[in-house]
Amino acid sequence: MQEDLRLPYYATGDILRAAVRDETELGLAAREYMDRGDLVPDEVIVGAIGERIDSSEAEDGFILDGFPRTVPQAEALAAKLEELGRGLTAVLLIDASDEEVVRRLGGRRTCVDGGHVFHIDFNPPERDGVCDVDGSELIVRDDDKPEVIRHRLETYHEKTEPLIEFYDHQSLLRRIDGSVAPDAVADELRRSLATLKLEADEAI
Ligand SMILES: [Zn+2]
Repeated sequence: MQEDLRLPYYATGDILRAAVRDETELGLAAREYMDRGDLVPDEVIVGAIGERIDSSEAEDGFILDGFPRTVPQAEALAAKLEELGRGLTAVLLIDASDEEVVRRLGGRRTCVDGGHVFHIDFNPPERDGVCDVDGSELIVRDDDKPEVIRHRLETYHEKTEPLIEFYDHQSLLRRIDGSVAPDAVADELRRSLATLKLEADEAI
């Protein structure tokens, strides 16, 4: 969906996983936390994201996915943006119950070589355990395993959920219903982002 908007898209998870795969300094620091389902420490993540926001490709805007996840991260992001003379246009919350989250994450299957993602209910591969794109093996990523999902949810409620109030106070929060089919969630996200982009462009 970032293609529609022509904005750089920064998914913290992808940035971190690439760093882990390439065994960069960031990757090595992040790996032990991710494997346990814990949050990567703020200084590690804020450094990586700040670098990208500050690059020329992000001049006209950017989309962050999976960041911030804690109030201190949000504060660090706000400080960085202020330093750059910029601000957030909106924060999108995909609202879903724990039960729905477990169903969605637990059914995810990821291709070992290409990172292609399938889902046993919503987007099953043609052959069980085999990637449709490149024939590689499909696995349950460590952070999609049931015990890790439960731990991720606990972490979410404790550390990330307070962000809802944090951003609601600043009138930045927009809620998206995460209980509908994945395609419908994606459509709604796309619509919201397009509207926001339009409003931001008109404001210039
Ligand atoms: Zn694949």
